[in-house]
Amino acid sequence: MNIDLNGKVAIVTGAGRGIGRQIALKLAEEGVTTVALDVRQELLDELGSQFAERGHEGAQFICDVRDAGRVSEVVKEIRALYGRIDILVNNAGVASGGIVETLGEDVWDANMDINLKGTFLMSQAVVPVMKAQGAGRILNAASFAAIVPSYGSAAYASSKAAVKQFTRVLAGELGPWNITVNCYSPGMIPTEMNHFAELSEERQNRLLDTLTLRRWGSKDDVCSLICFLASDHASYITGTMIDVSGG
Ligand code: NAD
Repeated sequence: MNIDLNGKVAIVTGAGRGIGRQIALKLAEEGVTTVALDVRQELLDELGSQFAERGHEGAQFICDVRDAGRVSEVVKEIRALYGRIDILVNNAGVASGGIVETLGEDVWDANMDINLKGTFLMSQAVVPVMKAQGAGRILNAASFAAIVPSYGSAAYASSKAAVKQFTRVLAGELGPWNITVNCYSPGMIPTEMNHFAELSEERQNRLLDTLTLRRWGSKDDVCSLICFLASDHASYITGTMIDVSGG
């Protein structure tokens, strides 16, 4: 199966590091002009150097997905630069936690504002562009936490469960314009977000035993799903959540 994304234009939020950076690099490798957004300039500079070394097309912009004004400005700039926006990957996220009894309101708000409101604001900004094109793909990062309750994850898990339902509702609103909206649900992918490297070997082994495939996921596992969902092969898939979690 040939995943032909050549010539498309994508935005990836939270692309400074982790899964988002890998998605940006992978899409660019597939011939997609890829615009990376993040809140950390030094991470965007690193990514910019990787794009330059590999001859990839694209740009990097500072953009906090919680900031409606900045989101709108950046989306206008991207449209002015490239004329279209085919793919939006709402990857930016945080996973701060704590048990409900003592959970700080600031922690709750950070999860909701970045994971959920950021997904809403970015989607809202690209919808008019995609409607005018009569096509588009919106891909939202959910998580296995949206389904499986884990101790101390109320804020993160609730935000990701809301992303799942947001995805279904938006898919229904945009179906008539040939715009698909899906979410993908990674399992445990070792990144800085989940402090994987700091887990004891015993804890790692216990977690590994809960996975059907008995291996950790990789950022590339997530990228493969993103490329498929962004491609024409997935044109009849919308409003769904697909696990990339090793079972
Ligand atoms: P990460 O922490 O390594 O990367 C997140 C990126 O988002 C960082 O570059 C950060 O600077 C950026 N970011 C944070 N706040 C932002 C904001 N307000 N605006 C724009 N950018 C912002 O995380 P990751 O592990 O690569 O996870 C990426 C996504 O995948 C997240 O949505 C996460 O919830 C989801 N996810 C990850 C895992 C996993 O195991 N790593 C599992 C399930 C879901």
